[in-house]
Amino acid sequence: MKQASDWNQPCPNKKCVHYGQVNQKNIISISTYMTQSGKRHIFQCKTCNASFSETRDTVFFNLKTKEEKVMMALKMILVKVNITRIAFALAVKEDTVLFWLDRAYKKANEINLLLLNELPVTRVELDEMWSFVRRKTNNGEAENFDSTEDGSSEPKEGQQWTWISFAPDYRLILGIIVGPRTFKTALSLIALTAGIVMGVPCYFSDGFSCYYNALLEYYHQLKVFPKTGKQGRPKDPVKEPHPDLVYAQVIKEKEEGRLIGITHRIRCGAERLAKLGFNIGTSFLERLNLTIRQSLAPLGRKTLSFSKKRENLKKQTIFFQVFYNFARSHMSLREEISDSTDRFQKRWRPKTPGMAAGITDYVWEFRELLTYKHITDL
Ligand SMILES: [Zn+2]
Repeated sequence: MKQASDWNQPCPNKKCVHYGQVNQKNIISISTYMTQSGKRHIFQCKTCNASFSETRDTVFFNLKTKEEKVMMALKMILVKVNITRIAFALAVKEDTVLFWLDRAYKKANEINLLLLNELPVTRVELDEMWSFVRRKTNNGEAENFDSTEDGSSEPKEGQQWTWISFAPDYRLILGIIVGPRTFKTALSLIALTAGIVMGVPCYFSDGFSCYYNALLEYYHQLKVFPKTGKQGRPKDPVKEPHPDLVYAQVIKEKEEGRLIGITHRIRCGAERLAKLGFNIGTSFLERLNLTIRQSLAPLGRKTLSFSKKRENLKKQTIFFQVFYNFARSHMSLREEISDSTDRFQKRWRPKTPGMAAGITDYVWEFRELLTYKHITDL
């Protein structure tokens, strides 16, 4: 019999003095019940008397379906199977899969909010990629989404972009926003990123123009003009880049779709950038974009409204984010743990972006993405 302190269950009652804590010897198992996935416990907190089921605050709460099946559906989402096919393969309704996705998304959001903050990030790559949201054309068929990418900056119905900010030093996805290609979305991405990193990092992007104004909107100081003593309206203050702000662009010159040259353009903070000695680039994020394209499928189902599809795309990408950050070990981050020179003898310690950034110290099981309960550090 396990000791009460070993249940690893924090008290879920926010008013309890042991809320969010473990190893306080306050949690006991008061009964068990059978589910399709096996025996589950009902716990009680001896401090506040609140009782709660083992699956409370997890994706599996009150679901009749076997956990294995729910996990299978969610894993399939991450290996490019669309919702229609997942529903068919698992003999469930598409709405059921979307409901599970919604729960997984909410848990992912919770994980992001709890764990992504005050990150020691000095470099951020920004990019936006054209996404899978398809609208119906007049004849009721889905558009061919490959041919729709035209680089236009106008928000068109049917064109959605997945905006990503990325910390290349840890391969960590900082933020994802799904939205049109506009200043407003750029600003949301900057605000999201700035809110979770310490200090002012260096920002790098491609030549897309929206970022500079968005960065300036977020990181600026006002330059006030002194009164001249002359008559007339004084000059309005202007926004100047924050002295620590570094922003540089990678501008790709193309001729007939072929890359013919790359130039760098430092928009602000050249001095600080030189001092830090960073290379200007967005290649890590470009690689990530490819990974996302290989992982997530267009959502399928023609009858879903456009806004519902956009909503579901957002849920998919945020779920992908926590999977990528915490449960997927990264080849380039792994650490050698043997000193053998024989390559067949080499042993490696797998590492996730979350571990590289010091947020967690182990590779999460897939299930943990769906059952994570935050435990307060004492
Ligand atoms: Zn309690």
